[in-house]
Amino acid sequence: MTNRALSQSPVQRYLERLHAELRQIRGGELASYIPELTRANPDWLGIALVTVDGHVYQVGDSREPFTVQSISKAITYGLALEDRGLDTVLGKVGVEPSGEAFNSISLEQDTGRPLNPMINAGAIASTGLIADDAGSAPLDRILETFGRYTGHAMSVEEQVYRSESETGHRNRAIAHLLYGYGILERAPEAVLDLYFRQCSILVTARDLALMGACLANSGVNPVTGVIALQQRYVDKVLSVMSSCGMYDYSGAWVFNVGMPAKSGVGGGIMAVLPGQFGLGVFSPLLDPKGNSVRGIEACKRISNEFGLHLFNVAHATSSSVVRQCADGAHLHSRRYRAASERAALEIGGARIRIYELQGELLFGSTESITLRMLDALDEADYLIVSLKRVVGLDSASIALLGDMCTAAETGGKHVFFTDCGHLYALRRYLQKQLRSRQSPQWLEFAETDRALEWCEDALLPDTAAGEDAGDDLGRQYLCAGLSAAQIALIGEAGTERRFSAGETIVRTGEPADSLYFILDGRAESWLEPAAGSEPGAARRLRLTTLGPGMVFGEVGLLGGQRRSANVSAESDLRCLQLKFDAVDGDLRERMLVNMAAHFAEMLQERAALMQQLA
Ligand code: GLN
Repeated sequence: MTNRALSQSPVQRYLERLHAELRQIRGGELASYIPELTRANPDWLGIALVTVDGHVYQVGDSREPFTVQSISKAITYGLALEDRGLDTVLGKVGVEPSGEAFNSISLEQDTGRPLNPMINAGAIASTGLIADDAGSAPLDRILETFGRYTGHAMSVEEQVYRSESETGHRNRAIAHLLYGYGILERAPEAVLDLYFRQCSILVTARDLALMGACLANSGVNPVTGVIALQQRYVDKVLSVMSSCGMYDYSGAWVFNVGMPAKSGVGGGIMAVLPGQFGLGVFSPLLDPKGNSVRGIEACKRISNEFGLHLFNVAHATSSSVVRQCADGAHLHSRRYRAASERAALEIGGARIRIYELQGELLFGSTESITLRMLDALDEADYLIVSLKRVVGLDSASIALLGDMCTAAETGGKHVFFTDCGHLYALRRYLQKQLRSRQSPQWLEFAETDRALEWCEDALLPDTAAGEDAGDDLGRQYLCAGLSAAQIALIGEAGTERRFSAGETIVRTGEPADSLYFILDGRAESWLEPAAGSEPGAARRLRLTTLGPGMVFGEVGLLGGQRRSANVSAESDLRCLQLKFDAVDGDLRERMLVNMAAHFAEMLQERAALMQQLA
């Protein structure tokens, strides 16, 4: 059975909550100066978000078609730039915000040049610049261009087009004025007709989000891979959107929302967070400036709640935030496991997934990686996320990771963040969010290896027979092939020793004179951190943890050795200490052969691991 909490992305859940909240907002009015627009249903509310990876999220009336209106201005401006080049277009249309209403007649005094392409005057001038000698009619070229942005064929809503054409006296006046100044070189009626039709192209909130995602993705449609706009003009279009896209609300918009955006009187808003996503909102009730009331609110909340202001994210998103991923069948903790346990992990270990992330986590990259990790949790129960190589995260990423944990835990899964001592904001957030967790606090795992060990331990009682009886020396690898009499001899020659948790048993550099068979409890072998290692590095480097049925210190049997590592009791520990001088002749030879075979096997495992990591 798939778990809904898991299969749903945090972004989808967020948008659903946002949609429910925004539905309560009732202010605003339908645009009435184009009579046909009053036929819209004031309740409609659709929100869509498309990431630069091509993930599409949508809620509510996101598939409801409506006319694009002024949002078309951004698209036709881009097309005019492609057709005529920057200089020609700049000669006809400026890039200064007018701070005036969309239908203002803001032209430069002497030249008649409209102030910018986002007000009607500049948009009509831009439409007039679209090539009409390029093999197909300008309207077809506009529709084809829209189609590259949306990934499907586009059409004009005839009623709205006719309604505007019959009543658009102000736009008519503007077009004639532009013609008088020589800004329009073609008959004003033809250009106007094209402009009215471009405004009446039908789109959905999903289309707007995808159009925005093309602009966020350097002009390439992230779903189809088609180039919607040549890359060199993407920043130009986004610039005029950010300074002029919301008419006389543009300054406050950049200030409050910080995403280049374009609104239309049909009720749509297309917003762009470069490098990350496009956002499309549709709700036809407008404020007095002609912007969708709920649309503005949606953008504001998304921006503020996730800290997505354009100027918050100075760095491009890296699409490769996953440095490595592995599962517990292939990657083992340094805890030394008995053969039966290793065999069990080989089968059950896939229920542990380990992701090592790197670089800077921003909304866009984190969104796609949380999805991947939640997907992985469909088949796994334990997720370890190592953040050692993550240099920073924005508040959106923190929220997404936190939400992923909540979803995972609701589904009965465990998530651990490791090596995140340097990410203070994340630690604070998680501490607050996850206080009620039943599994150990993520903070206990300064190291990935410890988290992995915990997960293995949690898995093993399910899959393996548990820990081997330590008291049976015959099961020690060192004793393989020995006769019962020889084993009994060892039992007699050895001394039983008890150590309490934390006690150190052997120290690096000491002469080696005995080996220890572990009968009960766990021992950890470890090294001091290398001189000059980073401050804040782990207090000590764990080499391995050994349990009942295992032995340490046996390497000294090779002769003349000093201890090469420290060994401490990790829990209360009971061992059988065997002095080397009690081991001679046949017994010693047998043990040396066993040791050689054992080390050969370990070398093979290392090689396999390295192959895995390569
Ligand atoms: N077609 C409309 C006009 O020119 C577009 C206006 C708008 O969406 N702001 O009046």
